[in-house]
Amino acid sequence: MKELKELVRPNVWNLKPYSSARDEFHGEASVFLDANENPYNAPYNRYPDPMQWKVKERIAEIKKVDVKNILLGNGSDEPIDLLIRAFCEPARDCILAIDPTYGMYKVAADVNNVPYIPVLLDEQFQFKAENLLSHKEASAAKLLFLCSPNNPTGNSLNREEIRKVLVGFGGIVVVDEAYIDFSSEPSFLSELSTYPNLVVLQTLSKAWGSAGIRLGMAFASPEIIAVLNKIKYPYNINQLSQKYAIDLLENPSKVNEWVEVLLKEREKLISRLSLLPIVKKIYPTDANFVLVKVEDANKLYNYLVEQGVIVRNRTNIALCLGCLRITVGTPVENETLIESLKKAAI
Ligand SMILES: *Cc1c(COP(=O)(O)O)cnc(C)c1O
Repeated sequence: MKELKELVRPNVWNLKPYSSARDEFHGEASVFLDANENPYNAPYNRYPDPMQWKVKERIAEIKKVDVKNILLGNGSDEPIDLLIRAFCEPARDCILAIDPTYGMYKVAADVNNVPYIPVLLDEQFQFKAENLLSHKEASAAKLLFLCSPNNPTGNSLNREEIRKVLVGFGGIVVVDEAYIDFSSEPSFLSELSTYPNLVVLQTLSKAWGSAGIRLGMAFASPEIIAVLNKIKYPYNINQLSQKYAIDLLENPSKVNEWVEVLLKEREKLISRLSLLPIVKKIYPTDANFVLVKVEDANKLYNYLVEQGVIVRNRTNIALCLGCLRITVGTPVENETLIESLKKAAI
């Protein structure tokens, strides 16, 4: 990794961040007259904690990291955007990523006018570090996005290749672990102190069952987190989401129960799909969805919509010709899907 100062955009490095009322005084007091809040309508009249310390303390405990390693965002979308804005000078610094992968990286790059370079995975949806690192733009790239387990393919990326990239890449390596709770592979979180250029993304949107509250997590060195804190909106996580997250995180065993059920359902779904003649291939998955190659993806997708069953049509994505991405649902929902597929006359 290059020096952090060399990687961060100069305007961000030199930025003096907005200092909110809650930054300038925190602690207990009986009279708060510093933020132009309305004194009525408690507790909603008060600005939320800009640094979300209570939420972070719970996450730090569960994830076995320090609170200084954590940035919370309005979904993972926010840290993805913050990383691009912190490190990539528009129209100059580029981003490398595997292809196919999660669509938001490219959208966030496009919004920021940052060149985005997709590097095709192999037929097993794996990559070689050597291929990424020897790309002609690799030495100029500031960010590299890896997603493991990958969306929409479902597989975990090869750990050794990720390690090689972490060692060989001069910029920041983002490992998006949105689906890590469903995976048989361990998280890269325990390796934060080994790799100063590692950023791990996780979210409450999948295994934690809370996509509606919009809470994404970025884990990295305290130095990288400090840079991101400088440029985030001061009150980026609202009070309702913070409150909800604190309560949810009090009871992590609930998540284990959900994951256990969903993993059983995933295996059941795979074995039932494999019996259907219209299913040509089921790709290995480490996530709460399965990528399935079918006879005629567009036709089958439209048929399922007519039946009121919505899956994701991924046939136009690189290496995914003929593929539908199916999220694992409740036993009843999965049954409905299978019954519809059995009746499909393609
Ligand atoms: C679903 C998903 C996320 C989560 O996004 P949120 O904004 O946190 O809801 C992040 N990364 C990937 C790859 C995903 O599939």
